[in-house]
Amino acid sequence: MRYFDLHCDTMTECFLHGKKLRENNLHVSLEKARALEAYGQCFAAWIPDDLRGEAAYQRFCGIADRLGMEAAENEKDMAVCRGPGDLTEARKQKKCGAVLTVENGAALGGRLENIQVFRERGVKMCTLTWNGENELGRGVMAGGSAGLTEFGRQAVRGFEEAGIVIDLSHASPELFDDVAAMAGKPLVASHSNAKAVCGHPRNLADGQFTVIKNSGGLVGLNFYKGFLHDRPEEASMADVLRHAEHFLALGGEDVLAMGGDWDGAALPEDMAEGLGVVPELYEMFLRHNYPESLLEKIFYGNAARFFQGQNLL
Ligand SMILES: [Zn+2]
Repeated sequence: MRYFDLHCDTMTECFLHGKKLRENNLHVSLEKARALEAYGQCFAAWIPDDLRGEAAYQRFCGIADRLGMEAAENEKDMAVCRGPGDLTEARKQKKCGAVLTVENGAALGGRLENIQVFRERGVKMCTLTWNGENELGRGVMAGGSAGLTEFGRQAVRGFEEAGIVIDLSHASPELFDDVAAMAGKPLVASHSNAKAVCGHPRNLADGQFTVIKNSGGLVGLNFYKGFLHDRPEEASMADVLRHAEHFLALGGEDVLAMGGDWDGAALPEDMAEGLGVVPELYEMFLRHNYPESLLEKIFYGNAARFFQGQNLL
């Protein structure tokens, strides 16, 4: 089976703790990827909310460098996808197609010029915030009622011009609405579930899902216990199905994707080993009578075609 995942923090973990992508004790490794027939993975450079300005930008550079080093060390098994055709080429060569993304627009260091650096380094998608507030706007866990700042507005325009997809996971409701009102390109929530199924503020309201759907965008299902189930200790793989069913009922057949939040979150016990459980997850959907044509979309095709359709991969 093929798998494309819109969000993991694995490269940030490799950078911070000196781990290797080939083999490690993380959720994602090239060893675990062997279970997959084709594999695309967005690797996020995550900037915590206590880093801002130059320090935030330098953190981004460090993680981006680290991805390049891992790709060079493992060139038989992975390739960084930077432009049109790269994902298909990686798949043909049976390599992990790695995509550089950013989690937290604070990585710009408050400088719009750095959007150009993102583009040159191959960044394909960027969340405007993490949980807190930054130069661009207000994340979902920060107090207040602010949305997008003027700098954020300019950044949204700059990202769209540079071919960097705007990721609204972690956005406050006001930020989400402000971006939706001005965006000219499809919107993504790379790792967010359905609020109607689990009420965590990080999950999407039905109206937000519909806005993303109508924009021609994507929503990636998140495997974090706290976003899967209102009682996180009871979360299991079966909850992924509950969220998928909810989004599908909202007409999400071409919107739904996966965004596992690997190495950024605590997973349910039956998913704890990480990427290696993906074939089991797929089997679970099959047992619930999901047609393979639909599963192809959710597990790989929607995300792959989204980026390819915009000539980004
Ligand atoms: Zn996140």
